[in-house]
Amino acid sequence: MNNLDFEDYLLNIPYPRPDVYGSLSMPVYNTAAYEFKSASEMEAAFCGKTTDHTYSRISNPTVHFFEERVKQLTGAFNVTALNSGMAAVSNVFMSIAYSGSNVVVSPHLFGNTWSFFENTIRAFGVEVRFCDLTNEKEVCEHIDENTCAVFLEIITNPQMEVVDLSFLSALAREKNVPLIADTTLVPFSVFKADNFGIDIEVVSSTKYISGGATSIGGLIIDYATFDWTRNKRLNELAKEHRNHAFNYKLRKEIHRNFGAYMDPRTAHLQTIGLETLHLRYERQSHTCLELAKRLQTMEGIESVNYTGLPGNPYYNVSLRQFGNSPGAMLTFDLVSKSACFQFLDNLKVIRRATNLFDNKSLAIHPASTIYGSLTQAQREAMKIHDKTIRLSVGLESVNRLLEDIGQALRKK
Ligand SMILES: *Cc1c(COP(=O)(O)O)cnc(C)c1O
Repeated sequence: MNNLDFEDYLLNIPYPRPDVYGSLSMPVYNTAAYEFKSASEMEAAFCGKTTDHTYSRISNPTVHFFEERVKQLTGAFNVTALNSGMAAVSNVFMSIAYSGSNVVVSPHLFGNTWSFFENTIRAFGVEVRFCDLTNEKEVCEHIDENTCAVFLEIITNPQMEVVDLSFLSALAREKNVPLIADTTLVPFSVFKADNFGIDIEVVSSTKYISGGATSIGGLIIDYATFDWTRNKRLNELAKEHRNHAFNYKLRKEIHRNFGAYMDPRTAHLQTIGLETLHLRYERQSHTCLELAKRLQTMEGIESVNYTGLPGNPYYNVSLRQFGNSPGAMLTFDLVSKSACFQFLDNLKVIRRATNLFDNKSLAIHPASTIYGSLTQAQREAMKIHDKTIRLSVGLESVNRLLEDIGQALRKK
């Protein structure tokens, strides 16, 4: 779908059923349960013979409408909306991992995802094999018959590392292992995961999709491109459901049992966010590229890390995968940690806050906050430096942001 189609389509997806009041936007069905005309209709719904909603932990019309929009925009087989990006990550692994299985993953991960692998999933007998996913030999050596997935972030946050997906997906195909990617940093309006051999996409919809940071949410986008027969846990299901075995496991068991389905009010906010996703992304990522170029020559800034800069080591692969303005996040190094703190304290326009892709620009010192509870050695292993500021670029003008950064660097 090209960009014009994307926007047009987004605004015109019909309701699954006509609304009795002709409401222009999908109503918020703030209800826990649904009433049935007869016991036999109820039996049919509960036994999966009809698609009627029964209980909102399992499905809800407003959330379903949001899922449908994402499904049609991505061309996926199925989409599941959850109440956070972390719920999306954990529900995927709770569906496919088993005691004795292993996950091959880069240690360069969003903080809580790293903690999920490092601390949580290991306790269930799942081995976590951290390795350099840009190194073919290393990846090959780490995959075996019990590898339940290779997992990566398409641009790592905050290191901004980009794996060449043509190489990694070919390798995953050859080894018959599913490739699962966190695509939060470049949304599906721009990055077509399916074209790059990704089998399952997870997204923190809290970021670009919510629009204006209105709510926390997550998405599991399943392309049903992997035959799950080789997964020892899904093997039985796969005999009947083949490539749909993952979705079956997730929707019929895991997401129901973990109870992390999206709230209908969040789905309503994020459906509205979706309508402007493409416009906001375009504006924010262009501003980010412009800023990255200008910050390189600013006094007090030692280096700028943005994959859209021609000197960046990932420039070419980033251009192939994400186009010429790869997202609205960049990092830069100042001379020291205290210079970073001084800079943050001096900001007037850019807000001191975590989160990404709000309409407002946000700055943070990752080493002392998101990664503050790790040891210095752990931070070094993850390439989290004391001198780094992370900037998420909002909808303000380039000049206003440059002015603010300039004054914050100069003021002592
Ligand atoms: C924020 C984020 C998450 C977690 O999402 P939540 O919605 O905060 O649970 C996961 N991955 C990446 C890359 C993120 O930026």
